[in-house]
Order: sequence, then structure tokens, then C-alpha cells
Amino acid sequence: MKYHFFNAQILVKGSIIKGDVLVENNKIIYVGSKPPKFSPDRKIDVKNNILMSGFVNAHCHTPSSVLRGISDDLPLNEWLAKIIPFERAMTEEDIYWATMLGIAEYVSGGITTVEENYGNIIPIMKAYKKASFRARISIGFPNVKQDLTNTLKWQLEQVQNFGFKPVCFAHSIYGTNEKNFETLTTFAKQNNLPVSTHLSETLKEVGDCSVKYKKTPVELLEDYGFLDRQCTLYHMVHCDKDDLKIVSDYNASIITCPSSNLKLASGIAPLFAMQNAGINIGIGTDGAYSNNSFDMFKEMFLVATLEKANLYNASILRAEQALDMATKNGAKILGYENLGEIKKGNLADIILVDIQKPHHYPHHNLISNLVYSAKSSDVYLTMTNGKIVYENGQFDIGENIEEIYKNCLKIKKRILEE
Ligand SMILES: [Zn+2]
Repeated sequence: MKYHFFNAQILVKGSIIKGDVLVENNKIIYVGSKPPKFSPDRKIDVKNNILMSGFVNAHCHTPSSVLRGISDDLPLNEWLAKIIPFERAMTEEDIYWATMLGIAEYVSGGITTVEENYGNIIPIMKAYKKASFRARISIGFPNVKQDLTNTLKWQLEQVQNFGFKPVCFAHSIYGTNEKNFETLTTFAKQNNLPVSTHLSETLKEVGDCSVKYKKTPVELLEDYGFLDRQCTLYHMVHCDKDDLKIVSDYNASIITCPSSNLKLASGIAPLFAMQNAGINIGIGTDGAYSNNSFDMFKEMFLVATLEKANLYNASILRAEQALDMATKNGAKILGYENLGEIKKGNLADIILVDIQKPHHYPHHNLISNLVYSAKSSDVYLTMTNGKIVYENGQFDIGENIEEIYKNCLKIKKRILEE
């Protein structure tokens, strides 16, 4: 399909320009004010919207969507103990519908790419495939039926068959034993794959690691050889200068998940120090059982404000930096070089954010509006890979939204009974 977005205010490199955007198949083929001759299948008047790149949710456990609200206001250990039995009660079909619910929330809030960290990848990939949604899929969740190397081989083959990007995922230094870290690291090296893990999320994790290994979690990963590969670390709430120097020296990236860190009382990630260390930072929502929404506007607001309050300085993190983290930085971290910016040749992940609303007026500064005023419900249209998957309340994600709700209510009823 060919689309011509005209009369647009376009977010490009931290500024707003006026002009047109042309899309052909899955690529942006033109951005500017004097479009060439073009015969689109559809012309879209952008008028009251900002046209920008779709968000990259760089860390999530999407099927957690159906466990939203099931384990709230508890410390991390008790929270985890409460959700595990519910997660175990979910069938493959449950996971499919739960992923679909997550995708519906993604597209209606302008998210077009996700880092998926969940165990049962087949129903998840079926949902993403059906919805034409982009995801980097984790492999490495141990399977009780076979050893980890064979699990990894099988999972890698499946991810490649489905056409998604893989990442070798170790849950955490407390949830993955040394042997499995070694297996994952070796497998990643042999197959030239990136790696990722939750790290330094809570003070307890750091304390336990210091007692057991006489090292910080970052130093332990360095010892494991886990940082030798392209590595993504989720959270990094509790880390010092030396840890960040190691992360920076290895060119590893960090995904910050502020809502989850606040709700589980984990703390506030030192984003200013991370930036000063030259580390690339992306943003993730984490799961719906610790957030409880997949809303990148909410995350951007927190990213741009928490460190200010933490360091008593309102100038240390600007709105455009939060926007970069939520789009192009996340895309780069997930290994997409041609994603995350409205630019000729990039993949056509485009969203329209409606600014014809009271909380956006009188449009003094549209960049700051996007971070400090906008809500995910302002998203009017979402295009991923050149396909419109959401427009003005209507979904085109391969399943009917009412059917998704119906199935998710069924799951709720059943897992509560079990
Ligand atoms: Zn997580």
C-alpha cells in the first residue's frame, strides 16, 4: 500500500517540521515540504495531530496483560510468589489471547515494537505474526523436558521460522544459575546472538550478590563473560559509578522501567549518571503485573521527571531526551538500525498523536507536550511496518477486539477458579 500523509507537523530529530510523509510498502520514502509526484492508495490529512515514530517498548512480558491487578501493593518477593501460580495456570491458548490483549494496548497507545521476555514463545509469536507486529523474542527460558542447550536450539529455530529477531535471555542472577548463564553465553557466542537479563533491580539482589560472590551484579556478569556480547540490561536501579564504567566499557545498553520500579518500591534508576557514562538507554514498561499498563507516555513522563526530583535539578534530563529513549535509542538497542525516526528509508512505524485536546492547548511547545501533557489515549492512528493497525478506536490486528476481551474474561474466570 502507498500512503501520503499531508498537512503534517512531524517530529524529526527533536524538532517539529511541517510537511508531508510518503510511505510505500513498509518504508518511509519521503519526508519534507515538496513531495514528488506520487499516486497513493490513500491520502491522510494529519491536520490536528503530531506525526512521529512509533514507540519501542524495550522490555515487557506481554502475556502478563491478563494478570493486571492480580498482585498489587506487595513487596517484590511476595508479589512474585503470588503471580507465579497464576502464570503456571495459563495454557497456550490463554497466552495467545493475553498477547493479543497486550498488542491491542500497544497499538492503541502508539507502541509499534516490543522486546518480548516470556517463556512460552510459540503462542506469543502466533499472536505477533497474526497482528503484523514487530518483536524481538527471548530464547532461553528453561524447559523441563530437555536441557537448556537443546531448548535454545529449538527455540532459535522457531523464532527464525517465524521471522522474528532472537535474543538470549537469562532471567536474572538470582533466577538463573551459574551453569545456565554459562550455557546461554556459550550459545549466544556460537550463534552470534545478543544477550539480555534483569539486573540490579533491587537492593536485596545487590546485597545477596555481594554476600554470595563478593561482587556487584555487574561485576558478576563481567566474570560470566555475559557482557562480551551485545548486551541489554533491564532496570539497573542500584548501581554505582564503577558498575556504570564497566557497562560503558563493554558498550552494553540499559532499559529503564520507571513505573515498575516505583510500584514494586525498587527505587529510582540513576539515569543522569548512566548518560554521563555514555550508556545508551531505552525505556520499557515491564509486565502488566508490575506496572499496570503498557503506556510509553507514562514512562516518558517518569523518565523525564524522576531524576530531576532525585537530584534536585530540573535541567538534567530534557523532554527530547526522553522521546529519543522511547523511540530511536530503543530501536538501536534491539538491533534495528532503520527504525525509531521519521526519515527516508526507515521502516514505516508511524503514529499520529491528537493535539486537538484541552491538555495540549495552546501548543506553546509540542515536544514538551508529548512528554509532559500527552496520554496514550491521544494516539489517533498507529502504522507498523507500513500497515495501519489502529485508527480512531478501530483495530486491525488479526483478531476482533470484542473477541479478545471475551477470551481474556474467560481466562480470568478460569485461573481464579483453579
Ligand atoms: Zn521484567
